[in-house]
Amino acid sequence: MMGKQVISEVVDNGLCVGCGICAGCCPSKNLHMGWEENGDLVPLQIRDCPSHCRVCLEVCPFGPQSNSEERLAKLRFGKAVEIYQCQKIGWYLDTFVGYSCIDGQRDNGTSGGMATWMLETLLKENIIDAAICVRPTGHQERLFQYDILDKTTDIRNAAGSRYYPVDMSEVVARMNSREDERRYCVVGLPCFLKGLHLAMELMPRLRRRVIYTMGLTCGHLPNRFYTEYLIRLSGLDPEDVCLTDYRRKVNTNRAGNYQFRAITDDGRVGKDIPFSRISNIWIDGYFQINACNYCDDIFAELGDISFMDAWLPEYERDPKGYSMMVVRHPDLAEILLKGKKRNTCHLFSIPKQKILQSQKGGVHNKRTVLAGRLFRAKIKSIRVPHKRIDPDGNIFKKFRWQIETRYKIQRSSKTNWQRTKGKNMVEFQRSFLLLSIPLIFSRLSARVFRVLKHPSKLFLLFKR
Ligand SMILES: Cc1cc2nc3c(=O)[nH]c(=O)nc-3n(C[C@H](O)[C@H](O)[C@H](O)COP(=O)(O)OP(=O)(O)OC[C@H]3O[C@@H](n4cnc5c(N)ncnc54)[C@H](O)[C@@H]3O)c2cc1C
Repeated sequence: MMGKQVISEVVDNGLCVGCGICAGCCPSKNLHMGWEENGDLVPLQIRDCPSHCRVCLEVCPFGPQSNSEERLAKLRFGKAVEIYQCQKIGWYLDTFVGYSCIDGQRDNGTSGGMATWMLETLLKENIIDAAICVRPTGHQERLFQYDILDKTTDIRNAAGSRYYPVDMSEVVARMNSREDERRYCVVGLPCFLKGLHLAMELMPRLRRRVIYTMGLTCGHLPNRFYTEYLIRLSGLDPEDVCLTDYRRKVNTNRAGNYQFRAITDDGRVGKDIPFSRISNIWIDGYFQINACNYCDDIFAELGDISFMDAWLPEYERDPKGYSMMVVRHPDLAEILLKGKKRNTCHLFSIPKQKILQSQKGGVHNKRTVLAGRLFRAKIKSIRVPHKRIDPDGNIFKKFRWQIETRYKIQRSSKTNWQRTKGKNMVEFQRSFLLLSIPLIFSRLSARVFRVLKHPSKLFLLFKR
């Protein structure tokens, strides 16, 4: 007899984020990660599971423990001295903005290169033996993967954000193996860190060896088709491409003017795609993983430190980029301050309001509008994980057309791409034009409204 497990309870309900922690923890090695036809990365079952085993569900960030961030965070940070709590940011000791002053880290990093700075510092100072982060593979089938990196050059080569599905199954299994008694720092998106912390509760070896976790603030994760779309837009065939860079920094007047670049295995470089050309694809959630619709963690609340872009006018003007940080672990706060003293990083404290302001789009979507999405799920009897936010019918009413349009875009961008593989890009774009018009209109009217309220912003509107 088969018991409840992650495939029937999570994957089949469209709630898998593809973290792979279930596969890495499965005691019978019964799960492996693979591509679904719709472009999502999910666990696939090899054989029947023993009926009593629920490990995969217990470690799943969208499983029955889905509202456990607060409990896990309290366990980890609740006892620290002079720590504060914010409903949206989670626990925090301090909040910073800055950038790395170490050779090339800022240039090669997504924002200010501080995530790489922290990993390298931890390794150089012998606080960890290896970093667990995401590196390019050079293979078209899986462009990026999690790996265990124990050399600073490898950590540096892994810099940059990958808006691409990756999974932790192999690294979790390796960190939890009998032999591998090392100390690790793991980088991950909010849901990945939650799965990892759930696994650490179950597995003493993992708990002992994962010394720190570092979170990446997250708006949402798109599936594999997002990258295929960008590759086609750059004039190349996804089957030929072995390397992509989502955030090439260009010397313009804004950090947000980064570009996407794809390179084929025989060295051909595609046309660079500026973010401004695809911003609606990102913002409107094309190819988005469905589970992200039910996430309420923006700032990776379980990370000992979380990193994000400094999307604020005072920092955005510098195309080299700034990192913003929420620090929760006293050790990492101390390492940052030491770095500042030694001039290996440029760092200063900022009020938490600045952090919230820089991510106001994410906060609005994952907290306010989430209540409307949860209400929609309730009235349609759609199974969703239990969240910290309550369903709210008034929010649903207020944002109804926006919510419904985004769902339609997410669903049909995946089914359309699965069918056509973007062989006719003009056709693909045209088929979404009508759907997107209300969203584009709402963004434009919000801007106009802002300008009418604060006429000085007219200047900014044209600068963009
Ligand atoms: C899917 C996704 C969505 C994001 N959404 C937002 C957002 O809404 N707002 C915001 O401010 N910031 C967001 N970020 C974070 C932002 O893009 C930067 O990663 C962050 O600011 C750190 O920049 P840095 O220059 O300090 O890091 P870097 O020095 O560039 O180092 C980044 C580190 O993260 C690792 N990494 C890259 N991609 C992944 C991945 N997919 N999973 C796990 N580790 C990875 C790299 O291996 C590297 O070690 C997102 C990142 C991702 C991957």
